[in-house]
Amino acid sequence: MNILPVHDLPNGHLNTCQICGSGELLPIINLGHHAPCDSLLWPRQLNEAESRYPLNLVRCKECGLVQIDYVVPAEELFFPDYPYRSGITSTLVSNLKSTGPTIMNRFSISKGKLAVDIGSNDGTLLSGFQEAGMKVLGVEPTNIAKIANDHGIETMQVFFDEDVARKIVESHGKAAVVTAANMFAHVSKLGSLIRGVESLLVDDGIFVSESHYLMDLIDTVQYDSIYHEHLKYYSVKSIVKLFSYYDFTVVDVDRIPNYGGSIRVYAQKGKGRPVGSAVTELIKEEEKEGLYNDSAYAEFVSSVVKSKRQLLKLIVDALSNGDRVVGIGSPGRAATLLGYCGVDSDMMTYIAEQSSSLKLGLFMPGCHIPIIDESTMLDQQPEYAVLLSWHYWKPIVEKLRQKGLKSKIVLPLPEVRILD
Ligand SMILES: [Zn+2]
Repeated sequence: MNILPVHDLPNGHLNTCQICGSGELLPIINLGHHAPCDSLLWPRQLNEAESRYPLNLVRCKECGLVQIDYVVPAEELFFPDYPYRSGITSTLVSNLKSTGPTIMNRFSISKGKLAVDIGSNDGTLLSGFQEAGMKVLGVEPTNIAKIANDHGIETMQVFFDEDVARKIVESHGKAAVVTAANMFAHVSKLGSLIRGVESLLVDDGIFVSESHYLMDLIDTVQYDSIYHEHLKYYSVKSIVKLFSYYDFTVVDVDRIPNYGGSIRVYAQKGKGRPVGSAVTELIKEEEKEGLYNDSAYAEFVSSVVKSKRQLLKLIVDALSNGDRVVGIGSPGRAATLLGYCGVDSDMMTYIAEQSSSLKLGLFMPGCHIPIIDESTMLDQQPEYAVLLSWHYWKPIVEKLRQKGLKSKIVLPLPEVRILD
């Protein structure tokens, strides 16, 4: 009998696996205590206390899920003024917009049906469905919902759960497709979310989720994508295990480039659906790579520690020479990297952001480095600029060079590299 473990997690420390409930959690790396990575500070908040929580990465011996062992309350992580907006990162916009038509083609979903996006942000993903002729509805807890509504994407400002699903069925009917792009690994009340999706979908409906992919995280040493919002680091095997507890079959999976390497997982409502070859092939690859034993993680941890030493040496040497060091880009992951490496505003004077960023004038959590308009960096031409959004380095470097940046650009991971 399949006994359902609790997928609605309590806040605070966890001592059992988030998917299978096993108590055998093996340590991978402890990154220390960190402030929530998107809790950027206003200047006045620098005079207040700041909460920090453990970031301890562990692996379940039973089902293989890689996860952190602490749940920060969702209200603290995804507060109403949450500054992340998907629609302004141009590389993401095209990926997000193409998601809708891709799903419609693959599962022959006809126009006029309903698509619901959970964690719909500014509605970029749904606009792809809408342009392809579907009805759309967003569910987004933060004030970014207003931007979506202003752009003609109907959006409810609320956390999605079973109750919200019921209300949507009453007001809009059942959905042919539900998407959850890059939020599926963020949800602490995952049981309620999946049960909600189950009741919201038509009988053969498709639930598409996107999450960081464990294989990419390990291969490219992306320890900086470990932060409190990401409770789980899915492999295909662990996500198949998760859906085995519900009325779903994982029917297909794509590897996609989003956020430095993600998987898009297609779960169809109903058990025993035909499964695409990509599912079994990727699980085989994961096993071959060593994701279910210790070796892959030992190598990962030694690369993490090495990259920290390299980055600190580069910064300390530069500062000793009288050179200036700044940062470029302030994605959530920058807080983990700077916090783990112990880089503060004495070592990195400021972080430069595009002038359209909602983060200008704020300070990074934990290290309190100010975020300012990139025009200052372009005026000052500091000797070194560390690219904190290094997972998108190519287009960013190209753009900054076009704008005239002459600084040496430093990629901090997977190992420190200087682009002259
Ligand atoms: Zn487990």
